[in-house]
Amino acid sequence: MIADRLDVLRARIDAAALAAGRRPQDVELLAVSKGHPASAVREAMALGLDRFGESYATEAVPKLTELNGTAAQWVYLGPIQTNKTRLLAENFSWVLGLCSEKAARRLDAQRPEGLPPLQVCVQVNADGDPAKSGLAPDRLSAFLETVQDLRRLTVRGLMTIPRKAGPGEEGATPPAFEVLAELFAKHVAAGHDWDTLSMGMSGDFEAAIAAGSTQVRLGTALFGPRPARTDARVEGEDTHHG
Ligand SMILES: *Cc1c(COP(=O)(O)O)cnc(C)c1O
Repeated sequence: MIADRLDVLRARIDAAALAAGRRPQDVELLAVSKGHPASAVREAMALGLDRFGESYATEAVPKLTELNGTAAQWVYLGPIQTNKTRLLAENFSWVLGLCSEKAARRLDAQRPEGLPPLQVCVQVNADGDPAKSGLAPDRLSAFLETVQDLRRLTVRGLMTIPRKAGPGEEGATPPAFEVLAELFAKHVAAGHDWDTLSMGMSGDFEAAIAAGSTQVRLGTALFGPRPARTDARVEGEDTHHG
């Protein structure tokens, strides 16, 4: 099942990249395994995938523990709650969605010395969606200056989640993609050594690739629908769609 979906997704990613005049190998498929069991991750690993996205910190840890010793690398992509930063700093290689100075300082302080620096992307609320976290674009530069001094964090780029399409907007390129791509290009031109522009999910990844995404985060399209969660509110992740 996952194998068939992966074939289709790789073909769609390649086609979208080529249509945009880009190289398919410049777009990473991040497999979002949140809500799916370790067995699904093993199945995906057998197909050559090695980087997996999780959004629910507490729920992810037993899965990470079960797969400890495999080549799986873990990317946290949910909202960052300050009381979960230690868990993230100790268990994940990447954290997408960094947008608070307090969380950044805690992650930096809590990242174990025996591990490489935590790789992070800064989340930008590129279309002013009140339901989403993320920095307003005009606050990005000041935030980066702060984060730059944190030795145990390495900024790799930016990520965004666009607001839900309104009536009549379905299928249109979300404005957030263009805004984020411009911000990314501007900061790279200013000397930031970044390689990750993380945007695009199951429902909009082709538009994201057209806009310049280097990492599409695919859950449903790869693993199938996620089983319903009953405790979404507990971790505050109910503001996330997808
Ligand atoms: C859940 C999630 C995804 C994957 O969503 P799908 O629509 O299932 O592909 C991608 N990015 C973030 C930040 C998520 O929380």
